[in-house]
Amino acid sequence: KKPERSILITGGAGFIGNHVVRLFVNKYPDYLIVNLDKLTYAGNLANLKDIENRPNYRFVKADIADLDEMRRVFNEYGIDGVIHLAAESHVDRSIKDPFTFARTNVMGTLALLQAARERWESLPERYEGKLFYHISTDEVYGALELTHPEGVESPFTTAASSEHHHAYGTEFFLETTGYNPHSPYSASKASSDHFVRSYHDTYGMPTLVTNCSNNYGPYQFPEKLIPLFINNIRKGKPLPVYGKGENVRDWLFVEDHARAIDLIFHRGTVAETYNIGGFNEWKNIDLIKVIIRTVDRLLGNPEGTSDNLTTYVTDRPGHDMRYAIDSRKLQRELGWEPSLQFEEGIEKTVRWYLDNEEWMDNITSGDYQRYYDDMYSNR
Ligand code: NAD
Repeated sequence: KKPERSILITGGAGFIGNHVVRLFVNKYPDYLIVNLDKLTYAGNLANLKDIENRPNYRFVKADIADLDEMRRVFNEYGIDGVIHLAAESHVDRSIKDPFTFARTNVMGTLALLQAARERWESLPERYEGKLFYHISTDEVYGALELTHPEGVESPFTTAASSEHHHAYGTEFFLETTGYNPHSPYSASKASSDHFVRSYHDTYGMPTLVTNCSNNYGPYQFPEKLIPLFINNIRKGKPLPVYGKGENVRDWLFVEDHARAIDLIFHRGTVAETYNIGGFNEWKNIDLIKVIIRTVDRLLGNPEGTSDNLTTYVTDRPGHDMRYAIDSRKLQRELGWEPSLQFEEGIEKTVRWYLDNEEWMDNITSGDYQRYYDDMYSNR
């Protein structure tokens, strides 16, 4: 039986991708879900063990920058929808090796767009019923200033708002905010976003772009702040905090991002941009306190046990001060909101990492370990 839709999800073995793949495989048994991933250091098929044998799931190991291979995949599976998450995603790595970021994020996205275009333009119905949905970041907008270091009341309300509902400035990124990326990572994502929009404007391809704030949750590679810190606390290792820890990020639970992607893929307006955010700004230093408190509590440690692990290290070059997303367009037009309070999300997340020590230990051995030593040795 022909599937109702054939959807290519790229980067499905990565952090956000595995949550999107899992949601689609479970929720849409009549769709064929093709997960395409190169399995770089960040891609791990162990993240998808629970669904790998489902009849509506396929895995293809490939590099999105390989145009011939992308052409083959579009034809073989009759792909009619794309959710594109594959990318190099870690800012610190982009500072050391920007070329890999240009290759995957820019050339890879372009190869995928071109393969989609060739396939879809060869069909009698052309672009009808097709969609190329590109997942991007709020980092393309640049940085906001920390105008209110003590915090001001946030203009946003959500059903899950917690007591900590304030902002560190009165400016927010909107869908209309101009692009002003600062890191090689965000520059490569900005470029890929422009290519996606150009395929709509030039060739008429139905495209969508969403720009999301920082995600946290299960299966995140432990080079990123939250899993890194949970793991270090577990091992009694120092928690390296950049600069004074004043930088502000807006945090969103990864399953809420996956839910937004599902909603936008099915009900978003073609050629639009949607900002996705957590309505949830935290200074790094306050966030770290929440993590320490939660890990100590769940490990049964007396309060304050891990407080002295925090260590300040030289700031990241060009470190953006504040990111804050206004995602009221998505809230207003499609009724999406984060489902969890931050403290609930952090508790779920810490619990998951503590319950999955084996996953963490496997991933933190080998290549990652060498990278980590190199990254933090001279600070
Ligand atoms: P991740 O690094 O955890 O996963 C990326 C995946 O892409 C990995 O499975 C990797 O193997 C795969 N990949 C890398 N290069 C590839 C290539 N050349 N060909 C095929 N596959 C390749 O990243 P993530 O955090 O899950 O982010 C997913 C997407 O969401 C990225 O596009 C990222 O820019 C975007 N995003 C992430 C966040 C966040 O907070 N993590 C926030 C907003 C947007």
